[in-house]
Amino acid sequence: MALPSSVENLKKIIAKLPTMSSRGAERFLEWWWNQNNGGREEFLKEWEGFTKLNPCKLCFYFAEGDLCQFCNDKKRDRSKICVIASPFTVPLIEKEVGYKGLYFVLGGEIVSSYKLKEIELVKKRVELLKDWIEKEKTKEVIIATDFTTAGSATAMYLKEELEKLGVQISRLAQGFHQGDALSYSDPLTLKRAFSKRDKL
Ligand SMILES: [Zn+2]
Repeated sequence: MALPSSVENLKKIIAKLPTMSSRGAERFLEWWWNQNNGGREEFLKEWEGFTKLNPCKLCFYFAEGDLCQFCNDKKRDRSKICVIASPFTVPLIEKEVGYKGLYFVLGGEIVSSYKLKEIELVKKRVELLKDWIEKEKTKEVIIATDFTTAGSATAMYLKEELEKLGVQISRLAQGFHQGDALSYSDPLTLKRAFSKRDKL
């Protein structure tokens, strides 16, 4: 083997990451190799902090202890839960919308059948969401998935699963078009869609 085994093995691990390729893994390792000590230390420090985070026991957002900053915050409106596919949608909603309820992170979408693990994870989390809604007597669930095929399939799945619980279910709609991803939406559209959401 021409490469040292640690380089070869790391390359294989990194190449498995979503959207990463073998060449991408090489470029990442090259970048690391070219960093000076300060750059390496900074990266390792942040990475170490990241690895110490846990999924929140209630909503699966990033948490330092058992619960995330939102589930821990007594001032948040606990009667509303906004369901999102990715934790990275939270800062967008926090910044642009002024929403004060809680969140629930699905960890993916109900996508085409070749991503079975992702579907399994989402379904498992939806079961936990149902327990939470029943226990907390949640009044409204706001579905904020993308307007892509997978995002809409996920919204339909949520509706079917949650409507038996008698909770009000709504989805952001106004101003969005088929194929739109929330992360690319402009602040005004997102704000309007949040205040005028469609009941499902
Ligand atoms: Zn939480």
